[in-house]
Amino acid sequence: MALYRDRGVVLRTYKLGEADRIVVVLTQGHGKVRAVAKGVRKTKSRFGARLEPTSHVELLFYEGRSDLDIVSQAESIDHFRPLRDDLDRLGRAIALLEAADQLSLEREANAPLYDMLVGALRALARRDAPLVVSGFLLKALALEGFRPQVEACVACGSEGPLVAWAMEEGGLRCAAHRLGPAVSPEAVGVLQDMLGGRLASALDGSRGPVVSEVDHLVVRAFEHHVERRLRSVSALHRG
Ligand SMILES: [Zn+2]
Repeated sequence: MALYRDRGVVLRTYKLGEADRIVVVLTQGHGKVRAVAKGVRKTKSRFGARLEPTSHVELLFYEGRSDLDIVSQAESIDHFRPLRDDLDRLGRAIALLEAADQLSLEREANAPLYDMLVGALRALARRDAPLVVSGFLLKALALEGFRPQVEACVACGSEGPLVAWAMEEGGLRCAAHRLGPAVSPEAVGVLQDMLGGRLASALDGSRGPVVSEVDHLVVRAFEHHVERRLRSVSALHRG
């Protein structure tokens, strides 16, 4: 059997038989990999402790005959202990993992997505920032070629004031072309910071109601994109 080495973040795990576990890993060089970790559910398996969701690990795999490979070694790169000791942060970390899971394809390398995920988990481990998930989702949409237009009205190109979020058209609209949910000026500013290379200041500076407003807008845009993509993929498979 062929061996290969890669690094990756464990997205989720599930039980297999009495003692084994299947781990789903977003790797740097091989896309999403599903692999069996044998014996990890026995007590005192140090190997198993390195293969929990959010773990960032260096892995040695055996190539399996089916779509399942086998994890032969796992060494920790990041423990992300602060994420597991804090329920708020753990919830945000799990949301990051789910989004990365939805966007990644099995055995299709996506190093930029892997880099973004590691970067977001490290930022969250350093200190909690409520908007870290929205920042990740926006940048992930941009990576997929669906960067929302937040600097000018998608209907007329005017710079505003921008007052509505027209998600089907991929961005904000001005008062004359109002369509979709209303957006506060504060939220417009946060969206512009996040997509304009000022993510750190958006994460640090945003508190209060604008956080949940931006979260809501971004999650809707993300779900809209993922659903549309799932539909186009299933249409492809039907054809
Ligand atoms: Zn307009």
